[in-house]
Amino acid sequence: MVRHPLLGLTALAGLAAAVGLAGCGAGDDELTVYSARQEHLIKPIFDRFTEETGIAVRYITDSAAPLMERLKSEGDRTRADILMTVDAGNLHQAVENGLLQSVDSGLLRQRIPEHLHDPEGQWFGYSVRARTIIYHPDRVDPANLDTYEGLADQQWRYRLCMRTSQKVYNQSLVAMMMARLGEERTEEIVRGWVTNFATDPFSNDTAVLNAIQAGQCDVGVTNTYYLGRLLRDDPDLLLEVFWPNQEDRGVHVNVSGAGMTRHATRTEEALTLLEWLAGDDAQEMFAALNLEYPAVEGVPLDPIVEQWGEFNADTLNVSEAGRLQRQATMLMDRAGYR
Ligand code: FE
Repeated sequence: MVRHPLLGLTALAGLAAAVGLAGCGAGDDELTVYSARQEHLIKPIFDRFTEETGIAVRYITDSAAPLMERLKSEGDRTRADILMTVDAGNLHQAVENGLLQSVDSGLLRQRIPEHLHDPEGQWFGYSVRARTIIYHPDRVDPANLDTYEGLADQQWRYRLCMRTSQKVYNQSLVAMMMARLGEERTEEIVRGWVTNFATDPFSNDTAVLNAIQAGQCDVGVTNTYYLGRLLRDDPDLLLEVFWPNQEDRGVHVNVSGAGMTRHATRTEEALTLLEWLAGDDAQEMFAALNLEYPAVEGVPLDPIVEQWGEFNADTLNVSEAGRLQRQATMLMDRAGYR
């Protein structure tokens, strides 16, 4: 008997989720993935996985919050074997809510750098997203750029654009600064940023880039893959990447990652997928599809990504971003960063 429990549930829940299947052989023996990573970024990966291993993958995509809510309410009745989502802040929340389980894999521990996976093995980062300084070369001399902290300097008054503090990316950035610099110093810096804002915070990174391009501001902080997407459409776009904090802790990085769900039933196949994703070919595909950096070292980069050059990344475990997320949110609120 072939059942379609996911389709049924999705319709009931009225979610705006995409449901898909990689490979044939739909039935009870397929692996199920809940993914906050968008369909066009995962389908080619799952297709390749199915081709190589014979394991079919059923997936549904939605934002992280509804997917985690759904996992929680489904409890041990869930069909999900893997949760895939972006940002260590979200992955940490999945751990806090008891939605994942530890995976003991020598291969994963060896392939994925220490700071890019949960210390208990409840999730692993598969691609690295660098959140860095972007500037317009006509209006900014990169010699005046230095650190994230430096964006609080007087010289950037009314020249800085940022995304809203409501989104997890900046919460993670600020959380990592708190871990590195302490709460007091971080609050001082965030207050400085707010003073320097050229406009109200934007709802997304692309809007920040467009504002810099349009001259509303001169400098901002975004994930590099958003710039990559704009460059894919317009290679002549005049926006440059600056790698801050190269003399100290390095560039703030986050991950897109995955873990085995607490109530996974196909644990063997789930482990096969988690390990397969750390292979060289899968890594290259996983990162390149979204113009990110592979988690595994030595894997080739997309040419657009490669042009930005090498940088030192902060190697503090990204799970710290999750641990300090709530405090970071309160700090930004106190500092007037909306
Ligand atoms: Fe994003």
